[in-house]
Amino acid sequence: MASSSEAGPAALLKAVLERVHHSADRSGRDVNNIRVVAASKTKSVSSLRQVYDAGHRCFGENYVQEIIEKAPQLPEDIEWHFIGNLQSNKVKPLLAGVPNLAYVETVDDEKIANLLERAVAKIGRKPLKVFVEVNTSGETSKFGVEPAVCVDLAKHIVTNCPNLEFCGLMTIGMPDYSSTPENFKTLSNCRSEVCAALGISEAQCELSMGMTGDFERAIEMGSTTVRIGTAIFGRREYPPKEDK
Ligand SMILES: *Cc1c(COP(=O)(O)O)cnc(C)c1O
Repeated sequence: MASSSEAGPAALLKAVLERVHHSADRSGRDVNNIRVVAASKTKSVSSLRQVYDAGHRCFGENYVQEIIEKAPQLPEDIEWHFIGNLQSNKVKPLLAGVPNLAYVETVDDEKIANLLERAVAKIGRKPLKVFVEVNTSGETSKFGVEPAVCVDLAKHIVTNCPNLEFCGLMTIGMPDYSSTPENFKTLSNCRSEVCAALGISEAQCELSMGMTGDFERAIEMGSTTVRIGTAIFGRREYPPKEDK
C-alpha cells in the first residue's frame, strides 16, 4: 500500500475534505458554509489539474506572475483567489490576465482598494470580491492592517468602491502556529466590530483563516474559508518567488 507521502493530490484532497467535514460536524457547523481554497503556489499545472479533475474548483495563488501563467492553462470555471501580497503595479496585469479571478483576499490599504476599484471599472467585469487582510499576530513582517483600523478599511470599500464587493476578513496568524487560536479570536472580534459598524450580519462577513497546520482549529473558531496547500499538494519543493 502506498504511504501517504506517495499519495497524489487527488487522494490528499479527499482526506482534507474528510477532515473539514469532521471538524464541521464536531463544531456543529454546516460544511457547506466552509470553503476550501487549494493554495497552489509553486505547484505545477498538472498537479492543479489533478485536483480540478477530482472535482475541486477553488484555488488560491500568491504571485501575480505565477497565476497569470497558470490560469489560462486551466478551465475557466475555476474560482481563483489571490492570497498573496499585491503590489500596486501588479493590479492591472492580475485583472487582465485572470478574467475569472473571483477574490482578492489581501486588501490591506485604501490605495490598493482604489487601484482594484479603478481597474475593475475600466475592464467592465463583474464586481471583484475582496477580503480585508488583518495582521492579527502583531509581527512587523506581516502584511495586513492593524485590527484597530479594519473597520475603517471595510467602510472605505463599502462606501467608495462600488466595483468591489466586501466579503469579509482574512488573516494568516503566526507562521509556526504557536498562537493561532489567539490570532483567530482577534479576527473574530474584528468581525464583530465590522458588522456593528456596517450594520451587517455575521453571515455577511466571512472569515478566511486556517492553513494546513491549523485549519481544524480555525473551523471550530468560525472560519468560512480555509486555505490549504501542503496537505493537498505535498511540501513545496522550491522557495516561492517574490513578485518583482
Ligand atoms: C501558502 C499559503 C497558504 C497555505 O499554506 P499551507 O501551510 O501549505 O497549507 C495559506 N495562505 C496563504 C496566504 C499562503 O501563502
